[in-house]
Amino acid sequence: MIEIKSRNMVLQGIGASPGIAIGKAHLIEEEGGISLTGKYFIEEDQIPSEITRLKNAVQQTKEGLLQIIRDLPEELQDHAYILETHLMLLQDKKLYEQTVKYIEEKQINAEWALKASMDEIRKVFKKMSDPYFRERASDIVQVCDRILKALTGTEAPRISEIEKGVIIVARDLSPAETIQIQLEKVKGFITDLGGKTSHTAIIARSLEIPAVLGLENATSLVRTDDTIIMDGAAGVVIVDPTEDVLTKYQKRKHRYEEYRAMVAQSSHLPAETLDGHRIKVMANIEFVGEVASVIDHGGDGIGLFRTEFHYLNKEELPSEEELFDTYKDIAEIMAPRPVTIRTLDIGGDKFSTGVELSEEINPALGLRAIRFSLSSPEIFKTQLRAILRAANFGNVRVMFPMISEIDEIIKAKQILREVCESLDREGLPFKEDIEVGIMIEVPSAVIMADVIAKEVDFFSIGTNDLIQYSLAIDRVNKDVAHLYQPLHPAVLRMVKHVVDAARNAGIRVGMCGEMAGEPAHVSILLGMGLDELSMNPISIPGVKKMIRMLSVEKSKLFLKEVLNKKRSAEVVRIVEEAYKKLFPDAAYFEHGYNINHER
Ligand code: PEP
Ligand code: MG
Repeated sequence: MIEIKSRNMVLQGIGASPGIAIGKAHLIEEEGGISLTGKYFIEEDQIPSEITRLKNAVQQTKEGLLQIIRDLPEELQDHAYILETHLMLLQDKKLYEQTVKYIEEKQINAEWALKASMDEIRKVFKKMSDPYFRERASDIVQVCDRILKALTGTEAPRISEIEKGVIIVARDLSPAETIQIQLEKVKGFITDLGGKTSHTAIIARSLEIPAVLGLENATSLVRTDDTIIMDGAAGVVIVDPTEDVLTKYQKRKHRYEEYRAMVAQSSHLPAETLDGHRIKVMANIEFVGEVASVIDHGGDGIGLFRTEFHYLNKEELPSEEELFDTYKDIAEIMAPRPVTIRTLDIGGDKFSTGVELSEEINPALGLRAIRFSLSSPEIFKTQLRAILRAANFGNVRVMFPMISEIDEIIKAKQILREVCESLDREGLPFKEDIEVGIMIEVPSAVIMADVIAKEVDFFSIGTNDLIQYSLAIDRVNKDVAHLYQPLHPAVLRMVKHVVDAARNAGIRVGMCGEMAGEPAHVSILLGMGLDELSMNPISIPGVKKMIRMLSVEKSKLFLKEVLNKKRSAEVVRIVEEAYKKLFPDAAYFEHGYNINHER
């Protein structure tokens, strides 16, 4: 929270789904649940009945979730997988058996035992370096919360009974709750917990409902029926606004909606500059369910398919067939458009997979991504087999994450060749001459880009990590978030260096970090000469529109001016000025980079 006044109380959270909403708050009160559950010891002869109580509660929770899945309206069917993940967690032996063990050994009540095993499992998730996995800790909490509600007989919040046109304010929204919310009733979501990659954020983005998450204490500051303004790009919430602030935001909302409608009109036209340069505007996805949104928004392909999801919440590692089915589905739906499958980008301990890794003090710098894959060749080979087989059904490329030196590429390509040979021996159909690319997200790869370009077919610049590793800013640490600046001159010089190296080597170069999805950055990226930009599907229309309004020639001149600046703030200023020239009323950056965001 950055400011408290009786009126216009401004709360700053994480902008998780863009858009502006103005409406009455509807607070979802937590009744019972984890925080209010009592702890007590039980007698030895009560152990069997306590275990039965737990069993019944788990069963009741399972039935409840199955019912929600069955009742899911057609347009939300794509999101059923999230509830299925919760069902899987519910069936997870570790959670259940650990809880039973605590009841037996410690002679404590089922609620207390469940909370103890939840805390243990949650700790494992929290230690992971990847924000996606770290946030899966909240799935564990949500599943346990449901079981606890069944144990204590507390009613789940009656989401389906809320009034029309409200902004939901909750401590956390489980996917089950988010999905039950009827779209026409909700203008936006505000939560204390969660982040950009939480399931609530994913659903909100694909439903195109503004969301501000991670506000920490919104539920204690906001009451039902308070008037709220929320800006889902900037992560700003204003409670009880004065008339003039309200009027200002109503205008801004109107402008934003006009802007979205305007960019949507050309989203299916090619992203071609005024001087005839064609750029591919592609999508970053994590699930098959997002493919429809990519096509709806006019995406030219998938520039980044993050494949970590399959490796989560399972007793076993995913089988080759399971991976193959998913990759094949995506390749087929998108064909002939390209689908870039990134191999596993995971680090730290993995939950329920049977893969034992040592604890890491600094997991972001640890056995992550390609380092993990090279140290677990069998897991790597299974994934590569599935990718090569799926490549037969579309235009598939493979991409290795977090490359920091040339030998990693050489080793990864050697394993890829071995996989081709074994598929060949087995007589399984696959595509041998698949394009091989790497993510450029570690400074050493930037510096060596000219050398490593000779080994690959394409580069994709991952600015999310590149900024983290080069500016020494933890990408998930709120306290340094203000320093996380894509327009930092050092970042811009690195991007330019990589693009130049790719150009000289005659290979393709794209960008798939968040930086690529901001329309205001397009001029800089065009000036540098990137071939592809890959982003969240909702950002595609805005970026395409921008490309169609600019010329590469003029962008090069603009880039020259940008590269002469010494500070991020100076770059931001001229980028804003240039953006406002094209969209005089905009004053709005899709991703909230506008540092002068008026309040
Ligand atoms: C990146 O680092 O920019 C990137 C796109 O990968 P991820 O966000 O999955 O680390
Ligand atoms: Mg990355």
